[in-house]
Amino acid sequence: MARELYTARLVRKDCLSEADHCFHFHFVLEDLESFSFVPGQFVSLLARDENGKEQTRAYSIASAPDGNRFELCVNRVESGFFSNLLPDLPVGAAIQVDGPHGYFTLRQPFTGSLLVATGTGIAPIRAYLQWLFPPDGPNRSQGKEIWLVYGARYETSLYYHQEFAAIAARHSNFHYLPTLSRAPQSWTGLRGYVQQHVARIVEERAARLGLPLPQPPPDPSIPARELRFDIYAYICGLNEMVAGVRALLTGYGWHRKQIVFERYD
Ligand SMILES: Cc1cc2nc3c(=O)[nH]c(=O)nc-3n(C[C@H](O)[C@H](O)[C@H](O)COP(=O)(O)OP(=O)(O)OC[C@H]3O[C@@H](n4cnc5c(N)ncnc54)[C@H](O)[C@@H]3O)c2cc1C
Repeated sequence: MARELYTARLVRKDCLSEADHCFHFHFVLEDLESFSFVPGQFVSLLARDENGKEQTRAYSIASAPDGNRFELCVNRVESGFFSNLLPDLPVGAAIQVDGPHGYFTLRQPFTGSLLVATGTGIAPIRAYLQWLFPPDGPNRSQGKEIWLVYGARYETSLYYHQEFAAIAARHSNFHYLPTLSRAPQSWTGLRGYVQQHVARIVEERAARLGLPLPQPPPDPSIPARELRFDIYAYICGLNEMVAGVRALLTGYGWHRKQIVFERYD
């Protein structure tokens, strides 16, 4: 079946990190009045390469639904095709898009959430946070505890850092934990990989709530689709990190349905 393609026009482009060649893109879908998607979903972008071959790549939407607009966060991958084409796209140019796609979305009913990202894996998580804590709309977080553990090598690679810090300053149930694996001496925040901070959050939470760790498996008489958890993890980034965090949580007895993830490679 032929997929439905839309024309997305680039209306604004901001550099998030010169060191990483990471850009934030604002697109408008000219064919649509409204683009309906769920925060966490992605779009497929299409373009022809120098041999005339059609290339398609997935990019997570980095914004909450907003009319016919959507935003992306893309960094340059060395010798990659699409991630080098996009930063050079001039404002006013158009690109073909289809979507939305994907299931990396917040599970309902909404629960406590452990958000874990590295690099541009932050894109769908920014969409969650815009939706949960809109700057001029209703707070949808229902007072649930939400942790964001965001890992990068250097501070310049913590995209949207000020924005997340501002949300944390406004909402006491949102805990922003940026961590650097190659922090300079002057960095006063967290250090190391995301895994060690995820471990601390899980252990401290279990101790606070008086829960055993590893947590006991759910009642086997409950069908998997009916399982209800009081916390979910949402992990996005490159496979090595995603696999590491999944293994860690599984080791604590977390159920596979409690661990939602998106891998970029
Ligand atoms: C569901 C989904 C959502 C995604 N969302 C985003 C997003 O929001 N932002 C974003 O920047 N990327 C995202 N990606 C990755 C994106 O689809 C491309 O893979 C990436 O931009 C590289 O494409 P390219 O054409 O430049 O490289 P290619 O020409 O496809 O590959 C060039 C080389 O880079 C390696 N490579 C491929 N992807 C990556 C990567 N992500 N990091 C490091 N090396 C890589 C390949 O193995 C290959 O050796 C997403 C991927 C998926 C599956």
